[in-house]
Amino acid sequence: MWDVIVIGSGISGLTAAAALATRGRRVLVLEQHAVVGGLTQTFQRHTWTFATGVHYLSGADPRDHGSPGGHFKRLLDALGEGRVDFAACANPYDLVRLPGFEFGIRHPESEYRASLRARFPDEVPAIDRWFAEMAEARGAAMALMSARGMPGWLAEGLRFWKGAAVQRYSQLTVAEALAGIGSPELRAVLGARGGDYGGRPSTAPLVEHALVMGAYDGGAWYPVGGPGRFAAVLAARIERAGGEVRARADVREIRQLEGRAAGVVWRRGGQDHLEIAGHVISTMGVKNTITALGAAAPTNWIEQAATLQPGPSYVSLYLGFDDGIEADGASSANSWVYESLDIDRHWNSPADEDAPALFVSFPSLKDPAHAGPHTAEVLALCETTAFDPWLRHGTRHEPDAYRALKDGVERRLLAQFARHFPRLAPRIRFHEVATPVSQARFVRTPGGSMYGLEMSAARLASPALDVRTPVPGLLLAGQDVVGAGVYPSSLSGLLAAAAIEPSLLRLLGA
Ligand SMILES: Cc1cc2nc3c(=O)[nH]c(=O)nc-3n(C[C@H](O)[C@H](O)[C@H](O)COP(=O)(O)OP(=O)(O)OC[C@H]3O[C@@H](n4cnc5c(N)ncnc54)[C@H](O)[C@@H]3O)c2cc1C
Repeated sequence: MWDVIVIGSGISGLTAAAALATRGRRVLVLEQHAVVGGLTQTFQRHTWTFATGVHYLSGADPRDHGSPGGHFKRLLDALGEGRVDFAACANPYDLVRLPGFEFGIRHPESEYRASLRARFPDEVPAIDRWFAEMAEARGAAMALMSARGMPGWLAEGLRFWKGAAVQRYSQLTVAEALAGIGSPELRAVLGARGGDYGGRPSTAPLVEHALVMGAYDGGAWYPVGGPGRFAAVLAARIERAGGEVRARADVREIRQLEGRAAGVVWRRGGQDHLEIAGHVISTMGVKNTITALGAAAPTNWIEQAATLQPGPSYVSLYLGFDDGIEADGASSANSWVYESLDIDRHWNSPADEDAPALFVSFPSLKDPAHAGPHTAEVLALCETTAFDPWLRHGTRHEPDAYRALKDGVERRLLAQFARHFPRLAPRIRFHEVATPVSQARFVRTPGGSMYGLEMSAARLASPALDVRTPVPGLLLAGQDVVGAGVYPSSLSGLLAAAAIEPSLLRLLGA
C-alpha cells in the first residue's frame, strides 16, 4: 500500500513524487521503459552521449533570486537530493536562418526587441505592437495555466476575471497576429520557433507562442552533467522517503474502488501485478489515462478528450563527431534553419521530400561537464502518414520496408545537414535516426507526437486537461496539462502533488 502511485518517470512524474516525498509521503513511480527520466533521459552510442528531449531550458537562472527567471532551479533545489546546476547557452541563444538572411535572437527580450528595431527600422511601430500584444497574451497564458491546477470553482473565477484576454489570445493565431507586418523576413523571424511547442503559425494560438518565447527572457540554460541529472537527484529524494522508482513497469489499468482511483495493474515479462494507493497521478497523457480506466472512464471526460488530437511528430538525426567542432560552425546556440520564407510548411512526406525546416542543436557544447567527443541533434517536425503501418503494428511488421524508409529519411537529413553545415559534414563519425515510431515506443505519446496533444485554442479551453480529473483520487500531470517543455511539465507535477498536499503550493513561490 503506497500513499501515491505516479504513472510515468518524466520530469512531471518525478517532480510530483519528489514534492510529495518532501512531505513524508511514500510514492511509487512506475515507468514502462527500461530507463527512467522520460524525455529527460540520455542514451549512449559508442563514446557519444545523446539527449532526447532537452536542448535549452527556461527558469534556471542561478543569479535570479525570487523572480520567475530562476524558479525552476529554485524548485529543483528544494526538491532534489543534491543540486542541479545550469550553464548559460550562447547569447544569441537561437539563430533563425532563412534563405540569404540570418538573425540571432538574444535575451533579455528587451535586447531582442532592440536588435529587431535596428535591423528593421521601417517596421518599428509594427515591432512595438507585436511585443505589446505578446506581453498581454502572456498575462492571459499565465491565468490559463494557473487555472489548470485550481479547484473547479476557483478556476472558473480566474477564467471569468481574465476572460476577455484569454478568449482573444487563445483564438488569435500567430499568423493572424503577424498579418499586419510588411516585411516577410520580419514575419518569419517573429513567427519562427513554433517547433518549441509543436505549432505552426496558421494554427498556433498566440497565447502559447507568447508564453514559450517569453520564458527565455531570463536566459537559455542547459543542465550541467546533462539532462540525466534531473532523474538522478529527484529519484534519490523519492527513495529517501521510502518510495521507489521502478523501470520496466508498464501500467495497463487504473483500478477504481467504490468510484475512486485506488491502484494500478502493471505488467512486466507477461505477468500482471496490482499496487494499491490512496491517490494515483497519471503523467502518460489524457488519452492513455482514459484508456487505462477502461469501461469505468466517465463518459463526459471521454467525450471532451475525444475532441483533442495528437500534435505533429518529428524525426531526429543523432550525429557523433570527431573533436573540435566549434571551429567549423557549431556553437551552443540552436539553429532554426528554414528552406524558404514559408515557415508554415509542414513536412508531409519525409520519404519523398526534404524537411522544410530543421532545428539543429549541439548539446555537448552546452554542457561544461561534457566529456568525450561532440554531438549534434537535428530535428524536423513531420506528419506521420508514412510511418502509420509501424505505429499501428510495431516494427516487426514488414521490417525491411521500415528499415528502407528509415534509411531513406536518414540519407535525406544527412544531405540537408551537409548543405547547411558544409564544414561539419566531413567530421561526422556516427549517425542514427529516430522516427515517430521510436517516440511512440520510448515515451508512448499517442501517434508518436512530439509534445502530446496538438496546441490549439480548443486544447487551451478544455476542462479535460485539468489536474483534478472527474475520477476522485486520480490526478493528471504532464505536458498535456500545462504545455510542452521541461519546466512547464515540472510545474504540472507540482500542481498535481499540491492537489494532494496543499502545503506544496508554497513551492510555487520558491
Ligand atoms: C525532441 C524533443 C526535444 C525537446 N526539447 C526541449 C527543450 O529543448 N526544452 C524544453 O523545455 N522542452 C523540450 N522538449 C519538451 C519536453 O521534453 C517535454 O515537454 C517534457 O519533458 C515532458 O515531460 P512529461 O513528464 O510530461 O512527459 P515524459 O517525459 O514523456 O514522461 C512520461 C513518461 O510516462 C511513461 N509512460 C507512458 N505510458 C506509461 C505506462 N502505461 N506505464 C508506465 N509508464 C508510462 C513514458 O514512458 C514516459 O517516460 C522536447 C521534446 C522533444 C520530444
